[in-house]
Amino acid sequence: MVNTCAFIQPAVEEAENAIREALAWKAAGQVRRVMVAGCLPQRFRDSLPGQFPDVDAFLGLKDFSRIAEIVRGEETGAVDPGLPTWLPDHRLPRVISTPPFRAYLKLAEGCSNHCRYCLIPKIRGELRSRAPDSILREARRLARQGVKEITLIAQDTTAYGQDLGKGISLTGLLEPLGRVQGLKWIRVLYAHPRGLTEPLIEALARVEKVVPYLDVPVQHASDRILKAMGRGITGKEIRRRLLKLRRRIPAIALRTTLMVGFPGETEKDFLELLDFVREVEFDHLGAFGYFPEAGTEAARLPGQVPEKVKEERKAELLSLQAEISRSRNESRIGREYEVLIETFDHDQKITIARTPGQAPEIDGITKIYRDDLTPGSFPRVKITDGLIYDLVGEITGAKSLLTLLGVKR
Ligand code: SF4
Repeated sequence: MVNTCAFIQPAVEEAENAIREALAWKAAGQVRRVMVAGCLPQRFRDSLPGQFPDVDAFLGLKDFSRIAEIVRGEETGAVDPGLPTWLPDHRLPRVISTPPFRAYLKLAEGCSNHCRYCLIPKIRGELRSRAPDSILREARRLARQGVKEITLIAQDTTAYGQDLGKGISLTGLLEPLGRVQGLKWIRVLYAHPRGLTEPLIEALARVEKVVPYLDVPVQHASDRILKAMGRGITGKEIRRRLLKLRRRIPAIALRTTLMVGFPGETEKDFLELLDFVREVEFDHLGAFGYFPEAGTEAARLPGQVPEKVKEERKAELLSLQAEISRSRNESRIGREYEVLIETFDHDQKITIARTPGQAPEIDGITKIYRDDLTPGSFPRVKITDGLIYDLVGEITGAKSLLTLLGVKR
């Protein structure tokens, strides 16, 4: 089963390569059937079967509940025309592919923001939020299974509930999620800055299990570019909201995603973005060069920026962020955190852990030079070193490896 992403051309090419690889296994008799699921068949419903005639079934975004029948060959996986309407729900059995102590929890599918560079609403459809009860039941079930950390996701988590009316929102969901027994950490990703309201900031601060961490993909800081992107917020307002978050939750770690080289982006716009990054000092930052994806409004805009300029701007942004990350990580030396033990890395001979300010898979890690810590446990750690992306720590009360080796610092 090749699960695919298709929101920009590089993702399409990666998915096509994975399909070719799986078909080679089939040709060599190593696998019997090859099925392709996700956004690629959804986006290229008409052309994909012709492009890959040896694929046994294509599954669209609403076929998840029929996977077993399709795999058994009892049903075909023809992708339905039109936008998907499928929404996960607590009754669907779920196999967690992450370690047993953490899981992602999806609040909604689709997106109605229609940023001008983004094809996702055209692939995954308009915003469809799950009922709060369904989300809470799934959270309780995950907690009973041993999940300690849940990461709330959606295309835009702050938009959760807008389609349901009745005042349903992420703000209102956090309190009951915070009461789910067994859960220890709740983390929010993909919070569009436009949806970062005062009541949401208060709820993030108030609900104890919500970790001091927020991923706010701001994309840009220049008003001209934000407007052209269709982000519905100004640079000044983004700054105000982020500074409010920092004031209200002083320990908060902020993550963002930025896009450079959007059509019409001038040197002045880019310098404004650099100033913004210097001012806010994000803890974690991802930067991407704009990609003119066919089918988006932005791909037809004048003033497309040359690839070389995009690459240079991205490199400059990342090098500025490296300095900021290192200095923020160094400022943590001597502080104590409760960390979640992830795993022991046999090659590096370190235990990999995460502080509340490090999200799984996307941010840095905390390295601990011990081999006797249990994955899924939450010991306290004192930070002894701050690197560009990672932290180094030692369990409080225990002697550090360097001390044991008699190394003076
Ligand atoms: Fe795409 Fe995110 Fe904008 Fe929605 S909020 S349209 S998913 S970029």
